[in-house]
Amino acid sequence: MKTLLVIDMLKDFIDEKGALTTGPAGADIVDFVKEKVREFRDKDYPIIYICDNHKADDKEFDMFPPHCIAGTKGSEIIKQLEPKKEDIIIKKRRYSAFFGTDLDLHLREKKINEIYIVGVCTNICVLYTAADARNLAYEVNVYKDGVASFDREAHDFALKELGTTLGCTIL
Ligand SMILES: [Zn+2]
Repeated sequence: MKTLLVIDMLKDFIDEKGALTTGPAGADIVDFVKEKVREFRDKDYPIIYICDNHKADDKEFDMFPPHCIAGTKGSEIIKQLEPKKEDIIIKKRRYSAFFGTDLDLHLREKKINEIYIVGVCTNICVLYTAADARNLAYEVNVYKDGVASFDREAHDFALKELGTTLGCTIL
């Protein structure tokens, strides 16, 4: 069984004025991500939205400006990708969508062994989520046109790392 993980397509990362915007790079993947969501939905594969969701005083803010604080507009999924009620929404406080969440349980319950990834940021939440998925022996595919980062160099490095070190298939 396959699933599409839609990582951090949230207002604070994607909107031009978001607290930690990925700028044009993030805006550019929205249509592609939307298309993939439609494709997976048409085939009845589960769509899993992974959503950064922090406490107001989260330790992550020692490194990054405050973003995606629980209950704020910035923590919402962008309106172009509004989830449907059958979709799964996983809130996370760390880079990896597996850390401190029940993502692995959802995947096992649905007998999912193949993960397809879109979203942001390629070198942060995409990379560390994919790394944990590989450690847990899932097959991982990353759509290169469906991931982005505010840092182009780090994006390129992460794609290489995802493919050559982690054994993900880069599509
Ligand atoms: Zn965060």
